[in-house]
Amino acid sequence: MPELPEVETIKNDLAAKIKGKEISDVKILWRGALNISAKKFVQLIKNAKILNISRRAKILILTLSNNYSLFVHLKMTGQLLYESVIKNYSSFAKATADKKLRIIIKNPLYKYTRVIFFFTDKSILAFNDLRKFGYVKIIPQSKVQNFINSEKFGPEPLDKDFTLEKFKEILKKYPRRRIKQDLMDPAAIAGIGNIYADEICFYAKAKPTKQINNLTTKQTELLFKGIKKILSRAIELRGSSIENYVDAGGRKGDYVKELKVYGRENEKCFRCKGKIKRVKLGGRSSYFCPHCQK
Ligand SMILES: [Zn+2]
Repeated sequence: MPELPEVETIKNDLAAKIKGKEISDVKILWRGALNISAKKFVQLIKNAKILNISRRAKILILTLSNNYSLFVHLKMTGQLLYESVIKNYSSFAKATADKKLRIIIKNPLYKYTRVIFFFTDKSILAFNDLRKFGYVKIIPQSKVQNFINSEKFGPEPLDKDFTLEKFKEILKKYPRRRIKQDLMDPAAIAGIGNIYADEICFYAKAKPTKQINNLTTKQTELLFKGIKKILSRAIELRGSSIENYVDAGGRKGDYVKELKVYGRENEKCFRCKGKIKRVKLGGRSSYFCPHCQK
């Protein structure tokens, strides 16, 4: 599942690629991704320009020139793929209307395309989603803030105002929770999921299952430092491609080779040479080193 570094990478990619572009058409291949009817969606979007691309938690927000914004959530398996040059553009566009896109585009990357935006310069942006948990919602700009507030997101961990003091305040709210649960709770801190929560716990030498009120002062400080360090480094390396995450150019992220515990069950710990263990926590796998994470 894409987490903050992956969504931030896509945001940066799209800012460079589609900002200022005008949407000439939209094709809906699966209307379940939308929050309004496909017909209304197309009507509203056509001829709008993309003014800005931002991110809050794991939601991408495309600000349009028509007083609407698009909210895109990739959830489990969503992708946003940008293609600058489409060969045989006219036949491609026609086939899309006929829902024959998969035949025209032999590229397996488009097998699970749900929505396609066509720009006036003949480039496209495809929203792909194998598992269909993701969405593309259109929201009037007057309601954008309400929508974000209703999600009750915690602070952005890479913002300057997310300080050690702020982090300690957050931890105090649920002292009996396990630390990993808090790291992954978007209402506590936005954008951290299963992969980076495990890596942050390893960095802090704290077991993911450790109760918050049992954390040492040192561990709390290291958790805070780890959040900043690991997420920033993961953005630098353009995210982690574990399952099907790719950036807006279809390329994989490179952070996987820096993962210390995630996905490394029974492998040697890089710090103490002990064996990495996997336990289930809240239905998800958690990886940690029982020897150096206490
Ligand atoms: Zn170890």
